[in-house]
Amino acid sequence: MSGPRPTTPSSPSGGPTARDGGAATFDPEAVRAKYLAERDKRLIPGRADIRDLKTDEHFAHYRDDPFTPVTERDPVVDDVDVVIVGGGIAGICAGAQLRKTGIERIRLIDQAGGIGGTWYWNRYPGVMCDVESYIYMPMLEELDYIPTRRYAFGEEILHHLEAIAVRFDLEADALFHTGVTRADWDEDAARWRVRTDRGDEVSCRWYVLAVGILNLLKLPTIPGMEDFAGHSFHTARWDYSYTGGGPNEPLTGLADKVVGLMGTGATGIQCVPPLAESAKHLYVFQRTPSAIGERGNRPTAPDFARGLEPGWQRARMDNFQAIMLGRPAELDQVDDGWTHDFAAVQHPPREKGMTTAEYLRSAEELDFRIMEAHRRRVEDLVADPATATILKPYYRYLCKRPCFHDEYLQALNNPNVTLVDCPAGMERITKRGPVIDSQQYEVDCLVYGTGFEAELTPLFCRAGHEIVGRGGVTLAEKWADGAASLFGMMSRGFPNMFVMPAPGQQAVVTVNYTQLAVFGAEFIGGTVRLLRERGVEVFDVSAEAEDAWTQKIVDSFVDGSAVMSACTPSRINNEGHPEAMNPRSGNYGRGMGDWFGYRELLEKWLEAGSFEGLELEVRSPAS
Ligand SMILES: Cc1cc2nc3c(=O)[nH]c(=O)nc-3n(C[C@H](O)[C@H](O)[C@H](O)COP(=O)(O)OP(=O)(O)OC[C@H]3O[C@@H](n4cnc5c(N)ncnc54)[C@H](O)[C@@H]3O)c2cc1C
Repeated sequence: MSGPRPTTPSSPSGGPTARDGGAATFDPEAVRAKYLAERDKRLIPGRADIRDLKTDEHFAHYRDDPFTPVTERDPVVDDVDVVIVGGGIAGICAGAQLRKTGIERIRLIDQAGGIGGTWYWNRYPGVMCDVESYIYMPMLEELDYIPTRRYAFGEEILHHLEAIAVRFDLEADALFHTGVTRADWDEDAARWRVRTDRGDEVSCRWYVLAVGILNLLKLPTIPGMEDFAGHSFHTARWDYSYTGGGPNEPLTGLADKVVGLMGTGATGIQCVPPLAESAKHLYVFQRTPSAIGERGNRPTAPDFARGLEPGWQRARMDNFQAIMLGRPAELDQVDDGWTHDFAAVQHPPREKGMTTAEYLRSAEELDFRIMEAHRRRVEDLVADPATATILKPYYRYLCKRPCFHDEYLQALNNPNVTLVDCPAGMERITKRGPVIDSQQYEVDCLVYGTGFEAELTPLFCRAGHEIVGRGGVTLAEKWADGAASLFGMMSRGFPNMFVMPAPGQQAVVTVNYTQLAVFGAEFIGGTVRLLRERGVEVFDVSAEAEDAWTQKIVDSFVDGSAVMSACTPSRINNEGHPEAMNPRSGNYGRGMGDWFGYRELLEKWLEAGSFEGLELEVRSPAS
């Protein structure tokens, strides 16, 4: 990939990363017909059905931690200033900011056996971040750390998050291997009472939910799954005791094993090259091919840090965000598939004088060219024409989260790898393995790379515990018809509770989640600092402020179902049902959201220091 390239207002995002698809003829009718035919193969009733892993008698153990042994300990009964649920990027950033405001007693609680969240749980071979490390790994400047690669492997990200936790002393009092089961607001004491599955009872003044955006494993409901006699696990709990090796070491235990990998999304494609290298045979079961652009991963240039000015990371994040939002930027600092293809499709250039119809057609053609380039990339890299055919993605680029990888497609050329196309899913799984089109595939091990529940799973489900606010009303009850909040971070009836901003809960959506987490943490830290300075013990959101914010979210909702219903089903179009998306659970701003507008609004709110939209109680001097 070439070096950083300038962008201009009229062409903010440049051309596709993959080879230009410009030569192909664009016949809109034919393209639409092909895309709809491919969609229809996959619109199968029940395709999105998943198991409830909390109660599933056969598969509940898939959530167990294979990485750290659980140790016995006595229940903790304690009172602290802040409880943070979740020790991932969001929880760590929140903890760091709260420490900076001088908060001493912080208890971080996580089901995981350590810090890291996503990066604790996801240790599958080949795991790496999807967004450039220099903007994805938080607090690089504060820790004086430069990632070793453009897209860091999971181990490096995990170590970095651990280093932040150490720097801000978040580990010593943390309760790991501990699930929060319930949190109740105690009106008289003005504290949250937090209970866990280890018998702990921790009360706190401020309660912070940093429970994750992709923290619930998704496991399909294929008939016969429980009959499989071989070994099986989900990629988010990789079983190295079975496969041998480690995230960046050969999987020596698989040398005599036939492995079946289900799923070819962001995770599946990262696992394939190391599995292909180690397994006796690998079957890759694909329901929908991902669009896989060039990753362009490489070691960090030795001179990367030279000349970086203080504030460089925020500036780089902002530069990325601006390009993703179609704003003019002098230079594309990240300069990758996101800033080329994804940004281009999200914000197609509009020539002066274009009618809406012309604009929509040009956007469709741009999308077609980018997808065509991805299809060409498959042809270029995959030797077997039949395999290449089933790997070509036929849908609009905006239909499915794009993937990027430098070795996945090439790994499918290995003689020990077979790609099995199953657009309608698997018929069943027997004790010997999957059955597709009446053909039995015999495998020793089945790896479920089937992903996670995402933003369409409401916060109160992702939080995995009952949150009981004023008057005994639960968050689940309050949000039964959709989110209701101020800024997507506070909700009336749940005093002194902050929720880290995330998609689908009236905040903003962004490709680089870390930037949102960093900002959300700064907002929480800043608000708590002000509240303490003024001696405020209890805040709640006013009814008017919450109604107004919710209305703002509803008013800016863009009903994209006309375009999205033509997509191949994926989590982006609610598995084929975009019409069921709830405007109340949308994001701030139209389309991709207005990240900068959101940040500016909240920064001004903090600067004003008047707590507009909050009801405050000062019960005693500052505590
Ligand atoms: C393999 C992979 C790669 C990714 N790459 C990127 C990327 O490049 N860019 C990007 O923006 N995003 C990426 N993501 C998304 C990623 O989830 C976020 O970037 C980010 O790590 C989320 O951080 P978090 O702290 O919000 O949540 P998490 O990291 O999920 O942490 C939440 C934690 O809360 C804990 N928890 C939840 N409920 C409870 C409870 N009731 N009791 C106790 N603990 C609880 C969970 O155990 C979990 O550890 C990736 C995700 C995966 C899986």
